[in-house]
Amino acid sequence: GATIGILGGGQLGRMLSVAASRLGFMTHVFEPGAAPPAGQVAHRVTTAGYDDTAALAAFAGSVDVITYEFENIPTAALDTLEAHRPIRPGREALRVSQDRLTEKRFLRDLGLATAPYAAVDDAEGLHAALDEIGTPAILKTRRFGYDGKGQARITSRDDAAAALDDMAGAPAILEGFVAFSHEVSVIAARGSDGQVACFDPGENVHEGGILRTTAVPARLAGSQRMDAVLLAGRILNALDYVGVMGVELFVTPKGLIVNEIAPRVHNSGHWTQNGCAVDQFEQHIRAVTGWPLGDGTRHSDVVMENLIGADMDRVPELAREPRAALHLYGKAEVKPGRKMGHVNRIVQDG
Ligand code: ATP
Ligand code: MG
Ligand code: MG
Repeated sequence: GATIGILGGGQLGRMLSVAASRLGFMTHVFEPGAAPPAGQVAHRVTTAGYDDTAALAAFAGSVDVITYEFENIPTAALDTLEAHRPIRPGREALRVSQDRLTEKRFLRDLGLATAPYAAVDDAEGLHAALDEIGTPAILKTRRFGYDGKGQARITSRDDAAAALDDMAGAPAILEGFVAFSHEVSVIAARGSDGQVACFDPGENVHEGGILRTTAVPARLAGSQRMDAVLLAGRILNALDYVGVMGVELFVTPKGLIVNEIAPRVHNSGHWTQNGCAVDQFEQHIRAVTGWPLGDGTRHSDVVMENLIGADMDRVPELAREPRAALHLYGKAEVKPGRKMGHVNRIVQDG
């Protein structure tokens, strides 16, 4: 059968590998770190850095299509890989989403609402941005942030210097604080034929910047649900996207505001594993291999809870819980803030 190359060996790469196996594909994971979670289930693993051109070329030559579980792949590595095999989702989605500033401009150009924002490179720039945007605000590094890392809240001007120190000299973006009532996300898919299908929006609760739970269905009026799905479709079409994308939204009285997009399967889509006939991982594999998209209709209400760090101590009791599906990532070392697994609780029959 065909082989799918996956850049990144974390839990997302692992669950992509499992889904690919179920459809009869082989997987080859490329990961710089030792003993990656995806390595336990992939058919083949290459342990090498993204600066190792020979290893990248050999990896690309061994697969039929290349996909990824994270968006921060260096551009030079992408050039090497793309010389050999197609990368799906494509380069444009990566270019746009690797930098929060580029992403915000892209969303605004599409006519979508975002938080007010301004680029910040130094203290002077931060003061100008605060004049424009006001407080409260959030300063974020433009690149490489995840799980709320590389962010600093600015409640008043007195916080400005400390927030800038937190950026450690990296280019940043100041965002006005959005007074949202709650957060939702749309996990959207686009096939190689241009067909778009969205999973039901999920409602997300974050704790300390890390996703804690996703519940479906989200609290949304019918018109908001329609808006959420339509705007996700617009983003995918604009990027000529092939694969699954996570679109994070703030719900406000004035409408939906796009927080950020992730050009990959997304933590807030893990509920689909136990709420739909075809989950986000299979949907992504289908899209990048040119299969038709599958049926992502929600058949059950689900609450997904992330198991973070010491939450792993609860596994013995979770294993006995009715209507609870455990998904563990096989990570040997428990660390505070580290995503170790998740549990999908089926709330009722849909
Ligand atoms: P992820 O792990 O989802 O990639 P991230 O590190 O990229 O997270 P964001 O999604 O930008 O971070 O922010 C994390 C959380 O912080 C958001 O889900 C939201 O709760 C809060 N937040 C971020 N930006 C804003 C904003 N402009 N206004 C209000 N809350 C915000
Ligand atoms: Mg993010
Ligand atoms: Mg986010």
